[in-house]
Amino acid sequence: MSREPRVVVVTGGSRGLGAGIVQAYLAAGDLVATCSRSSTPEVEAWAAEHPDRFLFKPADLSSSDDAQAFVDAVVERWGRVDVLINNAGVARDGILAMSSDDDIDVVVDLNLKGTLYVSRIVSRRMLAKRSGSIVNISSIVGRSGYRGLGVYSATKAALDGLTRSMARELGSRGITVNGIAPGYLRTEMSHGLDEAQLGQIVRRTPAGRLGEPDDIARACLFLTDPSNSYLTGQVIVIDGGLTS
Ligand code: NAP
Repeated sequence: MSREPRVVVVTGGSRGLGAGIVQAYLAAGDLVATCSRSSTPEVEAWAAEHPDRFLFKPADLSSSDDAQAFVDAVVERWGRVDVLINNAGVARDGILAMSSDDDIDVVVDLNLKGTLYVSRIVSRRMLAKRSGSIVNISSIVGRSGYRGLGVYSATKAALDGLTRSMARELGSRGITVNGIAPGYLRTEMSHGLDEAQLGQIVRRTPAGRLGEPDDIARACLFLTDPSNSYLTGQVIVIDGGLTS
């Protein structure tokens, strides 16, 4: 590779979209750290294949203590964080009127509070070194809404607001903050959709298919490329044209 390896933190990289993002940065030659509550065969394989360039630490990011311990482990290993991809997220199906306190807490505590915790800890370090790039993974349903995903949509819309505010707070220190709002991806999270729902989504999508983790991972690489230092405060929709 022509540039120096960067220290990249991807939250929730044990499967699904996060795993695709981890793989993309490993393929680009970077040093990659990820966390989730439990490990997976992919995580074990990366650790075996890239012992010097990959770090996994179990963490529940709805706890600020776990978020701090995760970032501390990265800094202890590699001394800094250059790129943060806030990817970890969870959805609970059900209309708001029927939601329990737990349904609300689980989604808000990870999607919103977890992202705030990690972003706060990492951005302090980026401020000190006056460089860095952050990408927040939100969702098209944060814009369009979706019946049965009210709490999830609320957290994702909040992340888009966070992206714009952090871009304003950090821009003068050489730190870019952008968001990606994916459409429907072929991951475990979309397993709750039945065949009829998936078929309808595909028919309405100009690209004629569901999204793949790689569609989003490529955009992460672009948004965090040091040559794109003038690109900040934006949320890019990547949904095959579904909401165009
Ligand atoms: P996924 O397959 O369910 O993966 C979620 C990841 O987050 C896993 O690594 C999971 O590992 C981790 N995670 C869950 N709870 C956690 C916690 N409390 N602390 C730390 N890590 C936790 O989901 P995905 O589809 O890849 O989604 C990734 C992101 O894309 C999410 O932010 C999601 O909202 C967004 N998104 C997804 C879609 C879609 O169609 N799939 C569309 C738009 C946006 P553990 O369970 O072991 O903790």
